Amino acid sequence: MTDLVVAGAGMAGLAAAAEARRLGAEPLVLEKLDRPGGSMRLSSGVVWRHRSLELFHAECPDGDERLQRLLFERLDDDLGWLESLGAPVVERETGNPLTIGTRFDPTGLTDVLVRAAGGGAPGATSGVRLGEPLREPPTLVSLILATGGFGAGRELLREHVTPEADHAFLRAAPGSTGEGLRVGLAAGARSSAGLDQVYARAMPAPPARIGEDDLVRLSQLYARHADVTNERGERYDTATWSEIDVAQWQLRQPRARAWFAVPVARLEERVRERSVGSMIDAAERAGAPVRRDEDHVTVETVAGVTTTLGGLAIDEHALVAPGVFACGADAGGIATGGYASAPAAALVFGRTAARAARGAVP
Ligand SMILES: Cc1cc2nc3c(=O)[nH]c(=O)nc-3n(C[C@H](O)[C@H](O)[C@H](O)COP(=O)(O)OP(=O)(O)OC[C@H]3O[C@@H](n4cnc5c(N)ncnc54)[C@H](O)[C@@H]3O)c2cc1C
Repeated sequence: MTDLVVAGAGMAGLAAAAEARRLGAEPLVLEKLDRPGGSMRLSSGVVWRHRSLELFHAECPDGDERLQRLLFERLDDDLGWLESLGAPVVERETGNPLTIGTRFDPTGLTDVLVRAAGGGAPGATSGVRLGEPLREPPTLVSLILATGGFGAGRELLREHVTPEADHAFLRAAPGSTGEGLRVGLAAGARSSAGLDQVYARAMPAPPARIGEDDLVRLSQLYARHADVTNERGERYDTATWSEIDVAQWQLRQPRARAWFAVPVARLEERVRERSVGSMIDAAERAGAPVRRDEDHVTVETVAGVTTTLGGLAIDEHALVAPGVFACGADAGGIATGGYASAPAAALVFGRTAARAARGAVP
């Protein structure tokens, strides 16, 4: 019989379960979907931190500074731990001079973590059990909530984030509908700051066809090179390298739509490894409305909700209520007011929660 239940087999839950096993526990991981990995498996696999703690504070000014410090101080060791488990490294850089991190192969990373979490035997009393959601908190055992926030929960998004939630595109795995938040609050947890904030990306607007494997490839990450307007013709000038500000703005505009008009002269500009023109071509091939004239190419985009940034308020041990811990996107208040790596927070606070649940320090 297990004494630790982990809800969610994504980045945070698997890291927590793997760490708990390392400490001698036999955790049971409940996963709602019939596959492990959550949004982590669909992402580009980059796990990163800011180059300095000061920069982290400055870029996420409303986040909890104690949690930011822990994340900053622990991430490098935790990345080394992932590698020691056999997680396949694709690149040791992020391509962004402001950040440091590692790009893993997301499928390989999922497989390695599932193994380290005890494997996936059906009906087992420990390890990873697929297709089995946490609905109510278990009794007499510790619980780690790692259900990935509420990005896939339309009602919660409408309540906390935007009245345009029904028009938004879900740029994430479909499982994260907010049970972690609900169960945590019912257990006595408080909600964190920034419950209205999300990380999102502009995506090709309907009738574009976008499969789960296209979520990274079809992102439209060139607001800095475009005139961005809503359907009333109101303009937004992006102010961040991550473009999280324009995505959050777009999510609150009519039908979560924005038009990106790029001067033809800027189509060759590069954003990381892609050119602006190639991102637009990919959107057009997927079926998005694209208008081309002599001077501009204009793409209709829809805000794609990737992950929520607000959630349950955690302490330094990821505790939210007696015997209940939260990590990953279920734990909010870390990147509030800006953008930091969600998988990094999931990794660090997943391991932190497991150590605390096992009574190990820190
Ligand atoms: C295409 C894409 C690109 C991304 N790019 C970035 C990026 O550039 N930067 C960034 O910071 N983040 C990015 N992310 C987000 C990041 O991958 C996730 O936020 C990260 O995986 C967080 O880890 P998590 O464990 O909280 O959630 P997840 O990895 O999503 O895991 C949560 C798991 O919990 C499961 N679950 C939900 N409800 C229940 C329940 N009731 N019972 C049991 N299980 C449940 C879900 O099915 C899921 O498997 C991206 C995501 C995607 C999809």
